[in-house]
Amino acid sequence: MTIVRWAPSPTGRIHLGNARPALLNWFFARRHGGTYVLRMDDTDLGRSTRESADGIEVDLAWLGITPDLLVRQSERTALYDAASDRLKAAGRLYPCYETEEELDRKRARARLLGKPPIYDRAALALTDADRTRLEAEGRKPHWRFRLDGRPVQFNDLIKGPQTVNTASMSDPVLVREDGSYLYTLPSVVDDIDLAITHVIRGEDHVSNTGTQIEIFEALGGAVPEFGHHNLLTDAAGQGFSKRLGSQSIADFREEGYEPMAIAVMASLTGTSLPIETYETLDEIANRLDFSMISHGAARFDPIELDNLNARLLHTLPYAGAASRLSALGLEGEAMWLLLRDNLRKFDDIVDLARLVTGPVEPVIADEDRDFLALAKALLPPEPWDLTTWGHWTDALKSATGRKGKALFLPLRMALTGRHDGPELKSLLVLVGRTACLDRLP
Ligand code: GLU
Repeated sequence: MTIVRWAPSPTGRIHLGNARPALLNWFFARRHGGTYVLRMDDTDLGRSTRESADGIEVDLAWLGITPDLLVRQSERTALYDAASDRLKAAGRLYPCYETEEELDRKRARARLLGKPPIYDRAALALTDADRTRLEAEGRKPHWRFRLDGRPVQFNDLIKGPQTVNTASMSDPVLVREDGSYLYTLPSVVDDIDLAITHVIRGEDHVSNTGTQIEIFEALGGAVPEFGHHNLLTDAAGQGFSKRLGSQSIADFREEGYEPMAIAVMASLTGTSLPIETYETLDEIANRLDFSMISHGAARFDPIELDNLNARLLHTLPYAGAASRLSALGLEGEAMWLLLRDNLRKFDDIVDLARLVTGPVEPVIADEDRDFLALAKALLPPEPWDLTTWGHWTDALKSATGRKGKALFLPLRMALTGRHDGPELKSLLVLVGRTACLDRLP
């Protein structure tokens, strides 16, 4: 049984960098017939909001991900309390009273001595009397996990064998002075409680994994497998960041991008599976093996996104477009098949459809006026089909000697008001004779 989780912090709208683990977990779950848990890491009450959490659900659904289960860490404090009590009883979680300033001074001193700025565990030496005195001064403890300080090894699903030496790390603070939990412990408690089998997340978490494996073991929980993927960066090589206002998934949606284009770019950039049109996320899930995820950087290319978005529209069958067209007050398979090749965004169809239904503002150069009047006179009678355009322009060619651009561009400018656009052979049939006559002088 495969159970994965994606665990965003609801402190704002998600961006492409957040969508990457959301999707990679989804692909893994689908490929293995597993369960997908959406876990809101909302223990930071100052920064997490329900509005952000709701937004994340909307963004996931838009991308095509439907979690099997949703849990909110803010509703699971009792589990964390029980786990921290056990760690305290086992002597793995110990109270510390240093203030931020004291810790800063300790780090500065270590740096001066050329030592790594690792917490010196002074609090482990406190006696009961020391603690009573400190608390009488009004100090409240924060709680640190006493690391084993050893090479923790695991076989990463993506990066291969890894070693994190917890001897080179400070004992992590798991509980703040006000009793609230930092990310590290609740994550492990939930992974145990929800029987998570695979933790798939960004490679910025590799050293956390060393710490967390020690906590899994201290709690007697089954240690899941881990996979750490390369992080997505923007075109300039900078990481995406909510704080720095990276473009959100919701922004892309509002700009009219196809969810599949965003999903492909967020997940397949920096992998050896090609960036191309896929019909469903399952198709990607079936093809993406984690060995295809590169160990190097994954740099997002906005031009590639635009091109992929266009390609997705150019191959979108009418069945996939019909309800979206009707929401825009449009219909007709022939119209769709003719116009889709000219789309960059779906809503471009509104302007393009006007080439068929009108109104069109014909553009007629003075020197072409006579030529176009003749074209009007030679316009064949209906019924029209795909050969009509050829008959008409052949007749015009013989009558005027015009050819190439001189023949076709004035017709296009008059019939569509633009110098590029859909194929005229098909457009002519859809526009019909009456409307064509109206557009010619
Ligand atoms: N909330 C954490 C994050 O967004 C989750 C990390 C994890 O998957 O354990 O980085």
